Amino acid sequence: MNPVGRPSPTADPATQRIHREQVRLLYAQAPLGAVASLIVAPLLALVAWEVLPHPVLVTWLALLETTILIRLALTFAFQRRSQPDADMERWAARYTWACTASGICWGGCALLLALSPSLVYDTFIALILGGVMMGGVFTLAPVLMTYVAYALPLALPPLLWLLLHGDPLRAIMGTTGVLYLLLALGTAYRYHHALTQSLRLAQEKSELACSYAAAKQQAEDSNQQLAEQQAALIDSVAAMRTLYAAISIPRRHPGEQIQALLAMGCQRFGLNIGILSHVEGERYEVMQALAPGGEITQGDVFTLGDTYCRETLRAQQPLGFEQASASHQRQHPCYRKFKLEAYLGAPVRVGSQIYGTLNFSSAQPRPIPFTPVDRELIQLMAQWVGGTLEQERMAATAQRQQALLAHTSRLNTLGEMASSLVHEINQPITAISLYAEAGLIQLQTGGFEPTDLQQALEKIAAQSIRVQTIIQHIRHFARQSKPQYSAVGADGLLSDIADFLKLEARRHQVRIRHKIAPHLPWVLADALQIQQVILNLVRNAVDAIGDSEGMRTITVSAQPAQDAVEITVQDTGPGLAPDMLGQLLHPFFTTKPDGLGLGLSISQSIIEAHGGRLWATANPGPGVTFHFTLPVAHRVSPPERAPAEIRVSQTAAG
Ligand code: ADP
Repeated sequence: MNPVGRPSPTADPATQRIHREQVRLLYAQAPLGAVASLIVAPLLALVAWEVLPHPVLVTWLALLETTILIRLALTFAFQRRSQPDADMERWAARYTWACTASGICWGGCALLLALSPSLVYDTFIALILGGVMMGGVFTLAPVLMTYVAYALPLALPPLLWLLLHGDPLRAIMGTTGVLYLLLALGTAYRYHHALTQSLRLAQEKSELACSYAAAKQQAEDSNQQLAEQQAALIDSVAAMRTLYAAISIPRRHPGEQIQALLAMGCQRFGLNIGILSHVEGERYEVMQALAPGGEITQGDVFTLGDTYCRETLRAQQPLGFEQASASHQRQHPCYRKFKLEAYLGAPVRVGSQIYGTLNFSSAQPRPIPFTPVDRELIQLMAQWVGGTLEQERMAATAQRQQALLAHTSRLNTLGEMASSLVHEINQPITAISLYAEAGLIQLQTGGFEPTDLQQALEKIAAQSIRVQTIIQHIRHFARQSKPQYSAVGADGLLSDIADFLKLEARRHQVRIRHKIAPHLPWVLADALQIQQVILNLVRNAVDAIGDSEGMRTITVSAQPAQDAVEITVQDTGPGLAPDMLGQLLHPFFTTKPDGLGLGLSISQSIIEAHGGRLWATANPGPGVTFHFTLPVAHRVSPPERAPAEIRVSQTAAG
């Protein structure tokens, strides 16, 4: 701000605001001075009426009163202005010009002094002028420029006249007047300065109050935000806990877990229908459903377009609304057909492909809106379902591949045993043909005893049954079948492959001993696969014993273990080098020239699929013992294929 109180155009906003306040004060106080002038001027004219020329007096009074009226008119216009803060500079300038005009008119009193007949009148006029000048200090000083523009033309002409008149008394009056003028200007300056300071302080105070209020509001907003975030956090922790509780309880089938998840979702979202759907093209099939009224059941099929899930799959993200009838969803075929008001659904992906949707709905509107936590939760639930379905698919594939591998391995074993088997079958067939020939000869020669013939025929029948049994065992062993778990006893497992074991033993002149502990609990197993493991271990033992001298014995035992039955195959072969123990079960590890190195690793995966364990230990004496365990039948439920209701197709439409 410059010394006369007018801000430069580049002044800071605070200074400009102060100046605006000063102009407002000027217009607020000025009418008082103007009205005083309006009254004082005619009084002066009245007093001087007898001694001064009337035309001069009247002209002076008219001009002065006109300027005063202009000032009053300006005040009136200022108070009626439409834009309070606009053009303040101009309003200040207008009033300053009007005051200058008034000042000049008051300054015209110098002429009245010149025409005055006596010192008494001069003194009276000077007194009036001094009063008007001093009165202006408080009414016009808010804008210093205005006061200066008023006071100088008012005071200078009379003062000059008094000083230059040549009369000592008037010269003293003039000098005193100059002092009064300086005093008035100084007072105006100080008053203006004090006013500016107090305006600045008031402004700072109001700014402080404003920023305090803003800070308070901000703090309140942040508190509110924090409270909301905290509530959302608590809510999401609660949601995670519920989700974890639903999926972490061990259950028999993933289907049961999905049912638990649907129940949890219905409760959490306050909707009474929960569905896991599978979508292929326009076909929407209900794979799992939870609907208290039984309105939707597993296996129900709908057209995708008649379900809100079409929109969920299009959006490829969770979709939810609380009241279809109050939104554009009321036009949706799903609303028109099923009158479902509230819905929350998310796409389920298996791998990178869309499988279907996980969705919850209700015929009643939901009173409160879904929160972001609800949408995140259903997203997580859908991801979990997708993961579970993928695991199922992978497990089913692995199971199929393992069965295929086991079958191939059995065929391989049979191939390797082919010559022994042929020999084994050949023996009874040779015996049959010998008995038949002997019988025929007896018949041809006529010298037969019926009892001899009967014996021959009985032997033929016995040998035929033997051949049949071997062929049955071969067929049984070579068949390809899905794993079938049932409760079986260890002796039953061994008796079915006894022929094969004997065959191997005889061919390699090895003795096979069976040591089955009495009262063994039954185990849960796929008999064929376990027999394959035992045969594999025995054949390995036979190979290991090879041509070695000394004891040539293989002992197959079964004894109870903790919640399991342990079956061992012990041989008297050369044993294993310590570093080989760790590699035995690795696929393709073999020390045989024509070996594949797959027998033990396949056996291990079969045993592990049964919930058991396979390992080898060195004997205290010669040879190795292979052990494996099988859980007892009452401890576990048979592992089943994934239930039909959550079957996973390789391709699903999105
Ligand atoms: P393969 O019989 O085709 O070699 P396996 O996986 O059945 O494949 O056996 C892997 C290896 O383990 C064999 O090559 C052999 O060196 C070793 N092995 C298995 N059983 C015995 C045993 N009873 N005594 C000594 N070594 C054995």
